[in-house]
Amino acid sequence: MNLRRGSKVWVEDRNLAWVAAEVDDCVGKQAQVITTSDKKVSVLAKKLLLRYADEDDHGGVDDMTKLTYLNEPEVLYNLERRYALNEIYTYTGNILIALNPFAKLPHLYNIHMMEQYKGAPFGELSPHVFAVADASYRAMVNEGKSQSVLVSGESGAGKTETTKLIMQYLTYVGGRTARDERTVEQQILESNPLLEAFGNARTIRNDNSSRFGKFVEFHFNGTGRISGAAIRTYLLERSRVVQITNPERNYHCFYQLCASGQDAEKYKLGHPSHFHYLNQSKIYELDGVSSAEDYLKTRRAMKTVGISSEDQEAIFRILAAILHLGNIEFSPGKEHDSSIIKDQKSSFHLQMTAELFKCDVNQLLSTLCTRTIQTREGNIVKALDCNAAVASRDALAKTIYSRLFDWLVDKINNSVGHDQNSHLQIGVLDIYGFECFDNNSFEQFCINFANEKLQQHFNEHVFKMEQEEYSREEINWSYIDFVDNQDVLDLIEKRPIGIVALLDEACMFPRSTHRTFSAKLFQHFSSHRRLEKPKFSETDFTVSHYAGKVTYRTETFLDKNRDYVVVEHCNLMLSSKCCLVAGLFSSISEESSRSSYKFSSVASRFKQQLQALMETLNSTQPHYVRCVKPNSLNRSKKFEKLSILQQLRCGGVLEAVRISLAGYPTRRSYAEFIDRYGLLAPKIMDGSYDEKVIAEMILQKLKLDNYQLGITKVFLRAGQIGILDSQRAEVL
Ligand code: ADP
Ligand code: MG
Repeated sequence: MNLRRGSKVWVEDRNLAWVAAEVDDCVGKQAQVITTSDKKVSVLAKKLLLRYADEDDHGGVDDMTKLTYLNEPEVLYNLERRYALNEIYTYTGNILIALNPFAKLPHLYNIHMMEQYKGAPFGELSPHVFAVADASYRAMVNEGKSQSVLVSGESGAGKTETTKLIMQYLTYVGGRTARDERTVEQQILESNPLLEAFGNARTIRNDNSSRFGKFVEFHFNGTGRISGAAIRTYLLERSRVVQITNPERNYHCFYQLCASGQDAEKYKLGHPSHFHYLNQSKIYELDGVSSAEDYLKTRRAMKTVGISSEDQEAIFRILAAILHLGNIEFSPGKEHDSSIIKDQKSSFHLQMTAELFKCDVNQLLSTLCTRTIQTREGNIVKALDCNAAVASRDALAKTIYSRLFDWLVDKINNSVGHDQNSHLQIGVLDIYGFECFDNNSFEQFCINFANEKLQQHFNEHVFKMEQEEYSREEINWSYIDFVDNQDVLDLIEKRPIGIVALLDEACMFPRSTHRTFSAKLFQHFSSHRRLEKPKFSETDFTVSHYAGKVTYRTETFLDKNRDYVVVEHCNLMLSSKCCLVAGLFSSISEESSRSSYKFSSVASRFKQQLQALMETLNSTQPHYVRCVKPNSLNRSKKFEKLSILQQLRCGGVLEAVRISLAGYPTRRSYAEFIDRYGLLAPKIMDGSYDEKVIAEMILQKLKLDNYQLGITKVFLRAGQIGILDSQRAEVL
């Protein structure tokens, strides 16, 4: 890098990520700089990055690849300036970065906007999520190839809202004009409020946080009209049904039901504060949301997706039953380690639960308080102590709820209809982003596993796109240096030995504990460069993910990975007089009669689901939207640099920049190049050469050799443009 007094640079800063500065003096390897806030700093010159300072340029660029200096602080500064102007979208090549505005921007998303983006060449209009949706639709129609749009980002970054906008756009361009309430596209759109009612909840990060991953596939016929759809969901968070912490909430549908008036009365519900599953947190209301109105919306959505009124009634009855179930308390029974219903109140809730599930109250009671153990001498009925009875109660609630959720997804799919004849699809993925908290458990492990998979897909794609640009321009270049995360994936999913396989093995042996699991893990991977044992724990393990290190606590890993339904629970539900309730469990009775042991692994199933997802994605042309949460307060206009930088890293945006930096990141069309640097070689400009020749002459005159001349563009290695600019500054 060519630094001199007056050079504009960026200096790294622990709190502000990067601060703007100017070089005051540069001796050997050390540079003295003065920051814009007049602080003198002495740093290693090689740690400085070039800053582009053009007085006329206030608004930034709409595509990062147009940045003069493609480095981290410039990327960040560009986003910051645009965000201040409410320009929430920015491209990095084909990747769309979307900053959550945390404010309603109706002018951005109306029909008029959709009409504008319809058919407009990508990059011609301002960056927009509609442009990405349109690009995927055009590519599908024109090239006859299935597409996918992958939306990622951390919780609250705007993935679900973005996904809904993409869905809205696709139904707009691919829908029929008929104004029938029950068109395929209407049903797909209405699946959103329905799944949100049952799968979204308030968390500390987002009032409407999706607690499941979702892949929505639109099917199109030969003329580009929507002909069907399919929704796949991933890993609903089950524990939330029975356990929440202040100030989070349970799933929205429970509060909606409590606010439903007549229905709530019919099921003897009341204010949410009366129910254990809801009153563990004191938040009952959400800002700007009316549960009563949302209840009606959910009902309407149910109708649109084709859920009959009997089924609707059964669904809410099940929700009410779950709330009553949670209020059943136990006290120690006469016999040692046994339990009985605690009091009159609990008896009432027991009665209500049985009534609403349409099952026998005595069977419900024995299901909660006892367990049958099969021995060679026959079955023995064993009493459960209070803690075990509570655990049994909660397990029942979680199982029913998650089965109900799956039932809803199936119902939507059956009703919308899968178009078996369609070969053209556009899939939209809304899945949890990389997570690293103070405490990370099994859920984070699965989520981060998914993100490793998607990251690999992303890298391969970005890498391929770069290669394609080089070959289009007939530039000689092949990558050697490219961070590959195959080793992390092997560590997690390889068989017969990987984290998932070892976990499954531990779950199948009754005597295993999280201790034996961790010990095995370290025994097998003692020198794996992606796995470490943290200093202060014997049982935690740390994985070096592409987005950073995460330490996982294994205490609950075995339990959470085991997904089996207690036989008594299954039998109880199968005995229900309500077909919907019994139907939720009919598949299990088949499964368990077929297999000899009832263990099924959550992680392995998730791994298979991911495998299937990757196969689908690999057969499509991908488009990426990276959602970024600008601040942790969910407030508009606030731009927190460090966290944004971290998100750009996790989302692979910086990796894409890095891949590009490894090659020839600066590309200028010949005309642009001569426009800016022609003055460096005025003599050459006099002749009437062609642009490419002139460009080459300029580069030769300056004795630059790190460039290549493509068909339409000059390709420069990182840093070269800085030399050109400083020469230019001298001439000016
Ligand atoms: P995620 O799915 O990534 O967790 P959401 O899509 O639920 O995040 O967004 C969180 C909140 O941010 C939304 O409820 C909404 O208030 C706001 N939001 C997100 N995207 C937009 C947008 N494009 N315009 C306005 N508000 C948005
Ligand atoms: Mg979401």
